[in-house]
Amino acid sequence: MMRIILALVFLLFLDFEPSLTRGGIDIIYSNLKRIYNHGIKNETSWRKLVSLCDDFGPRLSGSENLENALDWIESVLKTEGFDSVWSEEVLVPKWVRIYEDCELIYPRRKVLPVMAFGGSVSTPSNGIFAEVLVVKSFDELLQKKELAKGKIVVYNPPYEGYGKTVQYRWLGAIRAAEVGAIAALCRPISPLSLNNPHTGVMSYNDTVPKIPFASLTEEDVLLLQRFQDRGITPKIYLKIETRHDGLFPSRNLIAQINGSVLPNEIIAFGGHLDSWDVGSGAHDDAGGCIITWESLRLIKELNIKPKRTLRLVFWVNEENGLAGGEKYAELHKSEPHTLLLEFDVGVFPPKGIGFTGPDTTWTKVKSFEKYIQDFYPNVVVFKGGGGVDISPMMREGYPGASISTDDGGKYFWFHHSHKDTPDKIDLKNLNDCINLTVMFIYLCSELL
Ligand SMILES: [Zn+2]
Repeated sequence: MMRIILALVFLLFLDFEPSLTRGGIDIIYSNLKRIYNHGIKNETSWRKLVSLCDDFGPRLSGSENLENALDWIESVLKTEGFDSVWSEEVLVPKWVRIYEDCELIYPRRKVLPVMAFGGSVSTPSNGIFAEVLVVKSFDELLQKKELAKGKIVVYNPPYEGYGKTVQYRWLGAIRAAEVGAIAALCRPISPLSLNNPHTGVMSYNDTVPKIPFASLTEEDVLLLQRFQDRGITPKIYLKIETRHDGLFPSRNLIAQINGSVLPNEIIAFGGHLDSWDVGSGAHDDAGGCIITWESLRLIKELNIKPKRTLRLVFWVNEENGLAGGEKYAELHKSEPHTLLLEFDVGVFPPKGIGFTGPDTTWTKVKSFEKYIQDFYPNVVVFKGGGGVDISPMMREGYPGASISTDDGGKYFWFHHSHKDTPDKIDLKNLNDCINLTVMFIYLCSELL
């Protein structure tokens, strides 16, 4: 009988964590409660978000704005009592948007808001005046390739989710050049346009000429489509001036609380501080930077001593190069990382935690759900997580995670446009995302 009772007691403990005592579980729950109660009243988060977005503006790699924002964050980090704060040099590409102008000339005159995609070359200095060919897909472009020569190709792909539709931005200049077009334009990769173009990274290759490539608004692309459908071939004027300045020395910025039991085991987490050169990169990714920054600060403020080392990283150059993520992996791949987490999905109500890694770790991470659901009952832990900046470390075999949010499709309304400003962010969502992030990294620190 005694053996059965002992076995039952053992199973009871096993239901929590095999290595934990009841007292250990109580401490974890009590710290989660402290995090939650403190976090929902956090006002520093909003102040930091507004300062980052409003005082420094957009933060494209190679820009003074990005360097000034890095300086400011570093100076604040040094007042927050972390064990260490340091920078690591990263060479980032410097591309500069100088001038852009687009106008419908025929069949009537109309100014067309335009925004070059990141990396686009310039038009000739007096611009391009040409007929347009509107296509809804690369297949249609191939079918009509005889009509494309010497024209400006305008892509009008229906929005079928970002992951699928973004190929038109990434490959559009190459495909248009392959059929002899002299420039290309595209509707925004967004489910909703309010007469706004959206930028983003694009690509060239060495086999065809590099032609200028830019976003129009959805409304104007649909206007051009309707003209073409009625047998009218619109003519437009396009002038784009940009500059490639080679490589520029920037840096990843890092702050750390050393682990109290396993200091050599690292939980690294962060967002990308660079943004596109329009709006102020509030959702993408000032929000992710502030959420992960405040996560580390709350651990410190609540005097929680994490078992493992907690390392906050502000990566640079996610938008147009990944130099920050690559540099981090180059410098740190030999340090044991228990897990890396990136927040880069926009600041909306948190709905889950995605995880990619070995099954043994997955089982433990999945068990965190029961702790988190006491505070956020709808949050689930699911398979499939990661982020662009942590992808080089994940390639080395380290587990990766990301928070997912319930954006109702809205993230891509704002993304990479003048609309991405702090007024699109809600303080409650910001603090809930911080709470979930800090709870998760704390659980990883104590229980993985
Ligand atoms: Zn991003």
